[in-house]
Amino acid sequence: AAQMYYDADADLSLIAGKAVAVIGYGSQGHAHALSLRDSGVDVRVGLAEGSKSRAKAEAEGLRVVSVAEAVQEANVVMLLTPDHVQRHVYTESIEPHLAEGDALFFGHGFNIRFGYIKPPAGVDVCMVAPKGPGHLVRREYVDGRGVPVIVAVETDATGKAWDLALSYAKAIGGLRAGGIKTTFTEETETDLFGEQAVLCGGMSQLVQYGFETLTEAGYQPEVAYFECLHELKLIVDLMYEGGIAKQRWSVSDTAEYGDYVSGPRVIDEKVKENMQAVLADIKSGAFAERFINDQDAGAPEFKELRAKGETHPIEATGRELRKLMSWVKTTDSDYVEGSAG
Ligand code: NDP
Ligand code: MG
Ligand code: MG
Repeated sequence: AAQMYYDADADLSLIAGKAVAVIGYGSQGHAHALSLRDSGVDVRVGLAEGSKSRAKAEAEGLRVVSVAEAVQEANVVMLLTPDHVQRHVYTESIEPHLAEGDALFFGHGFNIRFGYIKPPAGVDVCMVAPKGPGHLVRREYVDGRGVPVIVAVETDATGKAWDLALSYAKAIGGLRAGGIKTTFTEETETDLFGEQAVLCGGMSQLVQYGFETLTEAGYQPEVAYFECLHELKLIVDLMYEGGIAKQRWSVSDTAEYGDYVSGPRVIDEKVKENMQAVLADIKSGAFAERFINDQDAGAPEFKELRAKGETHPIEATGRELRKLMSWVKTTDSDYVEGSAG
């Protein structure tokens, strides 16, 4: 069974005794920096010149300096810029200022697993990866709870890397929910697979196909939206609370029977073979290479796909319907409807 760690297993004073630099102040960066600070940790935020995030971090009372200064001051550096810019930030502003005995932390293993960043010997390399979006990570911390975290050590140069990683995980509230010990390889490959095959890729496509099937058959888009997207949250909440079994317990016998006979017709064995092919491309590095090459070229493929996604009719239908649903609120003030990204 996986090894689990909770608050009692970690010593907060280890991270509180360090100077921590959080590089980037986006989804994860703001959650880490604010929760570290609230846990009594000495934290500064490292951002590029002219960064859009700077004002937001300063408004929260955080000290913002350049990435290079942040790394110079700190002995623990958490790199939370987007994965595809991490190696540039690392090469230009982090590596030159890393000292023996410092620790380099990641929120996802991408750049280490695929070899885009190769830290020097003498530096601990750790991961604390919350299994949830950054805005939820922060909200849960403030509410006295946490989002589960994945904790891993790639290089234990000091002999103290593991305890330090657990201490960091505790400081952002992760060990209130539980930390699972894993490796950079397992975290990276399963994280990419989960988001591609099930959580983001698989789910988005399933919802779109359901909506298309109903509207192409002449049903009203508003009705199709409710059946194929809106209700999904209610179903997922039940799964989250009690597994697929609780979802089947709660729905009608009609729905449960339909689940058994039609689920495997929609998601058939071919889909599993497709998933295995997706996993193979993740493990071989082919996905990583395609992503990074596109980003390095200015992200033409990414931008085209993003713009195309926005034009799907389900988005326009949803925008109109959500205006009528006062109980559906976005709590993330920096999300703007209809603005890709
Ligand atoms: P974001 O896209 O939200 O990060 C944006 C931040 O990075 C902004 O503050 C941005 O500054 C800053 N940034 C961008 N380029 C640079 C640069 N060259 N130098 C300095 N700062 C820069 O990232 P996420 O939070 O989504 O992801 C961060 C890490 O966390 C990734 O490794 C990701 O895989 C991992 N992760 C993310 C999750 C999530 O919830 N999003 C969940 C679990 C892990 P500016 O405002 O100036 O653009
Ligand atoms: Mg991910
Ligand atoms: Mg129904």
